[in-house]
Amino acid sequence: MTAVVPGTDPQIALAEEFGVRNYAPLPVVLSHGDGAWVTDVDGVRYLDALAGYSALNFGHRHPALTAAAHAQLDTLTLTARAFHNDRLPAFQRDLAALTGTEAVLPMNTGAEAVESAVKVARAWGYRVKGVRPGAARIVVAGGNFHGRTTTVVSFSDDPVARDDFGPFTPGFDRVPYGDADALAAALTDDTVAVLLEPVQGEAGVLVPPPGYLRAVRELTEQRGVLLVCDEIQSGLGRAGATLCTDLSGVRADLYTLGKALGGGIVPVSAVVGRRDVLGVLRPGEHGSTFGGNPLAAAVGSAVCALLATGEYQARARELGAHLDARLRALPGLTAVRGVGLWSGVDVDPRIGTGRDVCVALARRGVLAKETHGVTVRLSPPLVVTHDEVDVLVDTFGAVLADLSRG
Ligand SMILES: *Cc1c(COP(=O)(O)O)cnc(C)c1O
Repeated sequence: MTAVVPGTDPQIALAEEFGVRNYAPLPVVLSHGDGAWVTDVDGVRYLDALAGYSALNFGHRHPALTAAAHAQLDTLTLTARAFHNDRLPAFQRDLAALTGTEAVLPMNTGAEAVESAVKVARAWGYRVKGVRPGAARIVVAGGNFHGRTTTVVSFSDDPVARDDFGPFTPGFDRVPYGDADALAAALTDDTVAVLLEPVQGEAGVLVPPPGYLRAVRELTEQRGVLLVCDEIQSGLGRAGATLCTDLSGVRADLYTLGKALGGGIVPVSAVVGRRDVLGVLRPGEHGSTFGGNPLAAAVGSAVCALLATGEYQARARELGAHLDARLRALPGLTAVRGVGLWSGVDVDPRIGTGRDVCVALARRGVLAKETHGVTVRLSPPLVVTHDEVDVLVDTFGAVLADLSRG
């Protein structure tokens, strides 16, 4: 197994000449994908243990999803929301049924869904809760990741995401993640919403203490505050349930969904939840040229159909338990966290950085991504097999052994 040598591949040279360095990709140039596997321009195959940060929960080119996209490409792709189209209403019905919600506001990217939820929560605060004009506040968690737009990075505490991008949007209060008492203390009469990831993916697959989400739900209910759960990464099967909050029996008022909702084919996101909350929006107040387009809706409906059987959620639970048990037996890791088929492992810094591990994994045919220095996030597609999970962990073990030999 050999990987591309940096600087020698013409695509990497082009990227260096014309691209913008807002990413630092591994030196691998992919040209084909199938299920849990991708192939590079030299024909080398890799197990995809990142799955597009969970945008590829159903693997690369799932036949049911590509068929839906192909069929829709041949009929109607875009109308703008100035007109109805014959795919969006069915998608909204399917997503509401899948998630047990009442209304669906379609957008494109995850950050847009979060922006939309922020706008809806504020409008609900003024029009329903009766908050003084301009005073609405939203409580968020430390270590959050909700996207890259200016309002969304306004309430991040990651200096890399924020520094030099201010001035920032006001109206947000940040409290430590997993601390219900701190959250209780931050709620005021002007608080319209609490916005949280049920498990923090980008932060390294941080699972909050048991009872946390339930406590947050009780507090928000008592104070007349909306609970908005960002399930763009944790939702749609990854955590072993349709929604990660299902695992703790909590229902949020609004959910943001994205990533896997587009089946790895097109960007599709949505805010789903209570009709009386989403219903505060009036015509013309919010929208998107591409949101809810027929191609996105057709793919989104096909994604809902895949998840409707529960097969993928069950795979995530079963394969995830196997992945977790095997990772815990590896020497060289200082922490293993996870839920469903979603793990964050911290590499002993004496062995190397997360980046060192990911470079070495790629050389051995496994693609993964580090986050925050020592952590490697593993989120293979939910179509991965038991044996492929073993390939992933065996390769991880071999890399840790290589690195600790120096
Ligand atoms: C990826 C992600 C987002 C942002 O989604 P984009 O499509 O990249 O804008 C927001 N929230 C969470 C939890 C995410 O994982």
